[in-house]
Amino acid sequence: MEKIKVGISSCLIGNKVRYDGGHKHDRFITDTLGKYFEYVAVCPEVEYGLPVPREAMRLTGSPENPRIVTIKTNIDHTEGMLKWAEKRLHELEKENLCGFIFKSKSPSSGLQGVKIYSEKGVPVKRGVGIFAMAFIKRFPLIPVEDDGRLNNPEIRENFIERIFVYKRWCDFLKKNVDARGLIDFHTDHKYLIMAHSPKHLTELGRIVSDMKHFKGDTRIRESYIKILMEGLKLMATKKKNRNCLLHIMGYFKKDLTGDEKKELLEIIENYSKGLIPLIVPVVLINHYVKKYKKDYLKRQVYLNPHPMELMLRNHV
Ligand code: SF4
Repeated sequence: MEKIKVGISSCLIGNKVRYDGGHKHDRFITDTLGKYFEYVAVCPEVEYGLPVPREAMRLTGSPENPRIVTIKTNIDHTEGMLKWAEKRLHELEKENLCGFIFKSKSPSSGLQGVKIYSEKGVPVKRGVGIFAMAFIKRFPLIPVEDDGRLNNPEIRENFIERIFVYKRWCDFLKKNVDARGLIDFHTDHKYLIMAHSPKHLTELGRIVSDMKHFKGDTRIRESYIKILMEGLKLMATKKKNRNCLLHIMGYFKKDLTGDEKKELLEIIENYSKGLIPLIVPVVLINHYVKKYKKDYLKRQVYLNPHPMELMLRNHV
């Protein structure tokens, strides 16, 4: 499998670029995700020209327009950093990134909740690091997360799932950019979208069904991917997954015996009560998909959204 290009704060893959000369190597990121992702490392502070080690910095000002200044000497690096970021983002555009993992809490790389200090040196507000903010403004569709939030299994699953969807979208844009291609893409993702947001599924279904102006009109696919990525940010809860699984179960009503139906239903209910992980009903359904040759379900990304080895659906 071709590795997916994902941007990353350089210190997270073990590069000693932090202000204190250290790193923040995250083994899950390099050893587990690294089997599927090819990382493009960015250290805003070092690439902008600051040395290692260096004086620590912090954010000041407003959350909308924060400034990045050194803590002891009060040197303001905002303009220089923004100028550098513009150039770097232009380069990153050519990398075709499908995600970015930022280092939490950093005044340059932090994605959310970064402390913003008053003139007296007291943290008074929270905001986004200078580079992270420039990145999300430039690439609003690319999935982003920070290393801290990835410790939460639900957030981790959601984020990685979105990276795989975005990669499939980029591949789609390279080949089947016609009405048929978009209908196929949407069909493949139907249950995945349903698991996140039935409302977005309806909205996307409307876009896909009105395809007559699709040829050569990039606005339709632009609004499709915008709504899709927005919908996938909503968490696939147990309740929504249960609904999806029951829909899928409906495809086997003529195939399964009474006992098999009872068993599958019991597994789905146990999943929705938090007694077993999502992977359990999904494995059983995949078994029936193969056994009863359900081609429509075979193509559903929901049943196989990312490599099983990542064990993203193994939590309760
Ligand atoms: S948090 Fe960002 S700026 Fe700080 S060392 Fe890591 S990559 Fe560099």
